[in-house]
Amino acid sequence: MTTRVVDPDLVEPVDPALRPRNLDEYIGQERIKDNLRVYIRAALQRGEALDHVLLSGPPGLGKTSLAYILGEELGVEVRTASGPTIERGGDLAAILNNMEDREILFIDEIHRLNRAVEEVLYPAMEDFEIDVVLGTGPGAQSVKLPLRRFTLVGATTRSGLLTAPLRARFGIQATMDFYSPAELREIITRSAGRLGVEIKPEGALELARRSRGTPRIANRLLKRIRDFAQVESDGTIGLDITRKALTRLQVDEQGLDKMDTRLLRTIAEKFDGGPVGLSNLAAAVGEETDTIEEVYEPYLIRHGFVQRTSRGRIITRRGLAHLGLAFAPPTVTEQEELF
Ligand code: ADP
Repeated sequence: MTTRVVDPDLVEPVDPALRPRNLDEYIGQERIKDNLRVYIRAALQRGEALDHVLLSGPPGLGKTSLAYILGEELGVEVRTASGPTIERGGDLAAILNNMEDREILFIDEIHRLNRAVEEVLYPAMEDFEIDVVLGTGPGAQSVKLPLRRFTLVGATTRSGLLTAPLRARFGIQATMDFYSPAELREIITRSAGRLGVEIKPEGALELARRSRGTPRIANRLLKRIRDFAQVESDGTIGLDITRKALTRLQVDEQGLDKMDTRLLRTIAEKFDGGPVGLSNLAAAVGEETDTIEEVYEPYLIRHGFVQRTSRGRIITRRGLAHLGLAFAPPTVTEQEELF
């Protein structure tokens, strides 16, 4: 996968200074927060573990942050694992067996758990027990090992890939949406404060409008703009230096970067506007199909640059306009003209 400045999936060390620490510091996603507040309070009042939580949405929207915040609000430890790194059922059984009462197990990319591991998870989530096989051969016995009552928080960028039995075991399910420019402006202003850099309201709004609705991208771009402001200006992030830096970073007016534009241009020019199948499109731009589906496409679709149809992806009128290309109505063939 190519890395890019606005790639929300780019692995980077967690910046603890910028991560929201509790629900009040977590900007946006109001409906999700309001409901979670109720569930947290109810669980605390009953002295019980919170029901299992599934968080879905594109990368960089705050799923991991929210999992840690749940731990903070519930006053419990959060242990973390990632779907593809749990290889065997026994690995998960060992993790679960070590969980204390009401603790949170956060599994990132939960749609990438393998079948054997998922089988261990079903009775663990539902009945708080795991099946352990003692011995081998004809004398082998299966015994049930009780677990402490824990909360599983699963995060996924592809909720459609979750198996139905796994999804059904999450009592609380939340789908995160892209952030509005106003919400991102608040996140950016707060982050600038934490980084100790002065930012003008116009600078913050400009960056907010060009961060693809994604807090992780906003924070990453903010750090780069800070560098430009420091070296090429007086250190304050105003409108001019924000625009200049974003141009240098090849992020356009709408927040689309080189790869987004390339995707649009490829559909428009190589495939006559589409429809083009995902694998053909991926091959044409030299990218993985998964990455296109999880990272690039959601924002382009959400903002009406691209449309997903049963026959493939098509570029919209808006997408064409963004490239400066005219909208060409579908051509009528001679055959059709006869009728
Ligand atoms: P995900 O797990 O969905 O990929 P993260 O939780 O890692 O996303 O979020 C990426 C970064 O974006 C966090 O480190 C944090 O700095 C910032 N962030 C995400 N959501 C919010 C939010 N609602 N309010 C403030 N900052 C946020």
